[in-house]
Amino acid sequence: MDELNSNYSPRFPSKLAISKVINPLPKPTVCRYCSGPVKIANHCEIYGRAYSSWPWAYFCTVCSASVGMHPLTDIPLGTLADANLRRIRRKCKTPFEKIWREGVLTRSEAYSALAQHLGISLEMCHFGYFDAENCLKAESWSKILINSSSLISTTSQNLRPNLREWAIRNGFKVTSLK
Ligand SMILES: [Zn+2]
Repeated sequence: MDELNSNYSPRFPSKLAISKVINPLPKPTVCRYCSGPVKIANHCEIYGRAYSSWPWAYFCTVCSASVGMHPLTDIPLGTLADANLRRIRRKCKTPFEKIWREGVLTRSEAYSALAQHLGISLEMCHFGYFDAENCLKAESWSKILINSSSLISTTSQNLRPNLREWAIRNGFKVTSLK
Protein backbone atom coordinates (compact mmCIF):
# COMPACT_ATOMS: atom_id res chain seq x y z
CA MET A 1 0.00 0.00 0.00
CA ASP A 2 1.49 3.37 -0.93
CA GLU A 3 1.72 6.39 1.31
CA LEU A 4 -1.39 8.07 -0.11
CA ASN A 5 -3.57 5.00 0.36
CA SER A 6 -2.46 4.57 3.94
CA ASN A 7 -4.29 7.80 4.83
CA TYR A 8 -7.58 6.05 4.14
CA SER A 9 -9.49 3.09 5.50
CA PRO A 10 -13.09 1.86 5.05
CA ARG A 11 -14.00 3.94 8.10
CA PHE A 12 -12.23 6.98 6.64
CA PRO A 13 -12.77 6.50 2.91
CA SER A 14 -11.84 8.89 0.12
CA LYS A 15 -14.83 11.09 -0.79
CA LEU A 16 -13.43 11.47 -4.30
CA ALA A 17 -13.14 7.72 -4.78
CA ILE A 18 -16.70 7.21 -3.48
CA SER A 19 -18.06 9.84 -5.87
CA LYS A 20 -16.54 7.96 -8.81
CA VAL A 21 -18.29 4.64 -8.12
CA ILE A 22 -21.27 4.36 -10.44
CA ASN A 23 -24.38 2.65 -9.06
CA PRO A 24 -22.89 1.62 -5.70
CA LEU A 25 -24.39 -1.52 -4.17
CA PRO A 26 -25.73 -1.39 -0.60
CA LYS A 27 -23.23 -2.31 2.13
CA PRO A 28 -24.03 -5.79 3.46
CA THR A 29 -24.83 -6.05 7.15
CA VAL A 30 -26.41 -9.53 7.14
CA CYS A 31 -25.05 -12.55 5.25
CA ARG A 32 -27.15 -13.65 2.28
CA TYR A 33 -26.13 -17.28 2.87
CA CYS A 34 -26.54 -17.78 6.62
CA SER A 35 -28.01 -14.47 7.92
CA GLY A 36 -24.93 -14.10 10.13
CA PRO A 37 -23.55 -10.67 11.00
CA VAL A 38 -21.22 -9.10 8.43
CA LYS A 39 -18.29 -6.98 9.50
CA ILE A 40 -15.49 -5.06 7.80
CA ALA A 41 -12.18 -6.86 8.03
CA ASN A 42 -8.67 -6.65 6.64
CA HIS A 43 -7.55 -9.31 4.15
CA CYS A 44 -4.80 -10.34 6.58
CA GLU A 45 -7.43 -11.10 9.20
CA ILE A 46 -9.62 -13.09 6.77
CA TYR A 47 -7.21 -14.76 4.35
CA GLY A 48 -3.86 -14.44 6.10
CA ARG A 49 -2.44 -12.00 3.55
CA ALA A 50 -3.35 -8.92 1.51
CA TYR A 51 -4.70 -9.72 -1.95
CA SER A 52 -4.72 -6.14 -3.24
CA SER A 53 -3.47 -2.66 -2.41
CA TRP A 54 -6.87 -1.98 -0.81
CA PRO A 55 -6.95 -5.03 1.47
CA TRP A 56 -10.46 -4.68 2.91
CA ALA A 57 -13.57 -6.78 2.63
CA TYR A 58 -17.03 -7.37 4.04
CA PHE A 59 -16.87 -10.67 5.86
CA CYS A 60 -19.51 -12.96 7.41
CA THR A 61 -18.34 -13.87 10.90
CA VAL A 62 -20.34 -17.14 10.78
CA CYS A 63 -19.75 -18.72 7.34
CA SER A 64 -16.81 -16.60 6.04
CA ALA A 65 -18.58 -15.39 2.86
CA SER A 66 -16.87 -12.20 1.74
CA VAL A 67 -16.65 -9.48 -0.88
CA GLY A 68 -13.97 -6.85 -1.51
CA MET A 69 -14.40 -3.08 -1.77
CA HIS A 70 -13.77 -0.48 -4.44
CA PRO A 71 -10.31 1.02 -3.77
CA LEU A 72 -10.24 3.77 -1.13
CA THR A 73 -13.95 3.29 -0.36
CA ASP A 74 -16.26 1.15 1.78
CA ILE A 75 -18.44 0.33 -1.25
CA PRO A 76 -18.70 -3.44 -1.92
CA LEU A 77 -17.41 -4.72 -5.27
CA GLY A 78 -20.41 -7.01 -5.52
CA THR A 79 -22.55 -9.33 -3.46
CA LEU A 80 -21.17 -11.53 -0.68
CA ALA A 81 -19.68 -14.73 -2.08
CA ASP A 82 -18.67 -18.01 -0.50
CA ALA A 83 -15.35 -19.59 -1.45
CA ASN A 84 -16.89 -21.52 -4.35
CA LEU A 85 -18.60 -18.49 -5.89
CA ARG A 86 -15.42 -16.39 -5.46
CA ARG A 87 -13.49 -19.08 -7.34
CA ILE A 88 -16.10 -19.23 -10.13
CA ARG A 89 -16.22 -15.44 -10.47
CA ARG A 90 -12.41 -15.27 -10.85
CA LYS A 91 -12.23 -18.21 -13.26
CA CYS A 92 -15.02 -16.94 -15.51
CA LYS A 93 -13.82 -13.33 -15.60
CA THR A 94 -10.45 -14.30 -17.07
CA PRO A 95 -11.65 -15.12 -20.62
CA PHE A 96 -13.95 -12.07 -20.55
CA GLU A 97 -11.01 -9.76 -19.78
CA LYS A 98 -9.15 -11.21 -22.76
CA ILE A 99 -11.81 -9.68 -25.05
CA TRP A 100 -10.51 -6.16 -24.54
CA ARG A 101 -6.96 -7.01 -23.52
CA GLU A 102 -6.54 -8.63 -26.93
CA GLY A 103 -8.31 -5.75 -28.66
CA VAL A 104 -11.33 -7.72 -29.85
CA LEU A 105 -13.76 -5.15 -28.45
CA THR A 106 -13.26 -2.21 -26.12
CA ARG A 107 -14.00 -2.82 -22.45
CA SER A 108 -17.24 -0.80 -22.73
CA GLU A 109 -18.34 -2.70 -25.81
CA ALA A 110 -17.59 -6.02 -24.13
CA TYR A 111 -19.68 -5.17 -21.03
CA SER A 112 -22.51 -3.85 -23.18
CA ALA A 113 -22.53 -6.95 -25.38
CA LEU A 114 -22.35 -9.28 -22.37
CA ALA A 115 -25.24 -7.48 -20.65
CA GLN A 116 -27.36 -7.97 -23.77
CA HIS A 117 -26.34 -11.62 -24.02
CA LEU A 118 -27.33 -12.26 -20.39
CA GLY A 119 -30.49 -10.18 -20.68
CA ILE A 120 -29.54 -7.90 -17.79
CA SER A 121 -28.99 -4.16 -17.45
CA LEU A 122 -25.53 -2.73 -17.98
CA GLU A 123 -25.57 -1.49 -14.36
CA MET A 124 -25.89 -5.08 -13.12
CA CYS A 125 -23.29 -6.46 -15.53
CA HIS A 126 -20.35 -7.08 -13.17
CA PHE A 127 -18.86 -10.42 -12.23
CA GLY A 128 -19.05 -9.37 -8.58
CA TYR A 129 -22.84 -9.26 -8.93
CA PHE A 130 -23.22 -12.57 -10.79
CA ASP A 131 -24.37 -15.88 -9.42
CA ALA A 132 -22.58 -19.03 -10.62
CA GLU A 133 -25.00 -19.52 -13.52
CA ASN A 134 -24.37 -16.10 -15.07
CA CYS A 135 -20.61 -16.48 -14.48
CA LEU A 136 -20.59 -19.70 -16.47
CA LYS A 137 -22.74 -18.20 -19.25
CA ALA A 138 -20.36 -15.23 -19.45
CA GLU A 139 -17.35 -17.55 -19.57
CA SER A 140 -18.63 -19.66 -22.46
CA TRP A 141 -19.81 -16.57 -24.38
CA SER A 142 -16.39 -14.94 -23.93
CA LYS A 143 -14.55 -18.05 -25.08
CA ILE A 144 -16.69 -18.32 -28.22
CA LEU A 145 -16.08 -14.65 -29.02
CA ILE A 146 -12.31 -14.92 -28.50
CA ASN A 147 -11.91 -18.20 -30.36
CA SER A 148 -13.99 -16.88 -33.25
CA SER A 149 -12.05 -13.65 -33.45
CA SER A 150 -8.80 -15.49 -34.02
CA LEU A 151 -10.34 -17.11 -37.11
CA ILE A 152 -11.39 -13.86 -38.72
CA SER A 153 -8.43 -11.61 -39.18
CA THR A 154 -4.85 -11.66 -38.12
CA THR A 155 -4.16 -8.08 -39.22
CA SER A 156 -4.12 -6.23 -35.95
CA GLN A 157 -5.16 -2.81 -37.28
CA ASN A 158 -8.37 -4.11 -38.84
CA LEU A 159 -9.17 -6.89 -36.39
CA ARG A 160 -11.73 -4.96 -34.42
CA PRO A 161 -13.90 -3.63 -37.29
CA ASN A 162 -13.88 -7.06 -38.94
CA LEU A 163 -14.78 -8.77 -35.75
CA ARG A 164 -17.61 -6.35 -35.07
CA GLU A 165 -19.15 -7.13 -38.48
CA TRP A 166 -18.69 -10.84 -37.91
CA ALA A 167 -20.16 -10.64 -34.41
CA ILE A 168 -23.25 -8.81 -35.64
CA ARG A 169 -23.72 -11.30 -38.51
CA ASN A 170 -23.51 -14.17 -36.05
CA GLY A 171 -26.03 -12.86 -33.58
CA PHE A 172 -23.76 -11.16 -31.07
CA LYS A 173 -25.46 -7.90 -30.16
CA VAL A 174 -22.56 -5.49 -30.26
CA THR A 175 -23.30 -1.88 -29.45
CA SER A 176 -21.07 1.00 -28.59
CA LEU A 177 -21.62 3.01 -25.46
CA LYS A 178 -22.42 6.67 -25.88
ZN1 LIG B 1 -22.68 -16.24 6.35
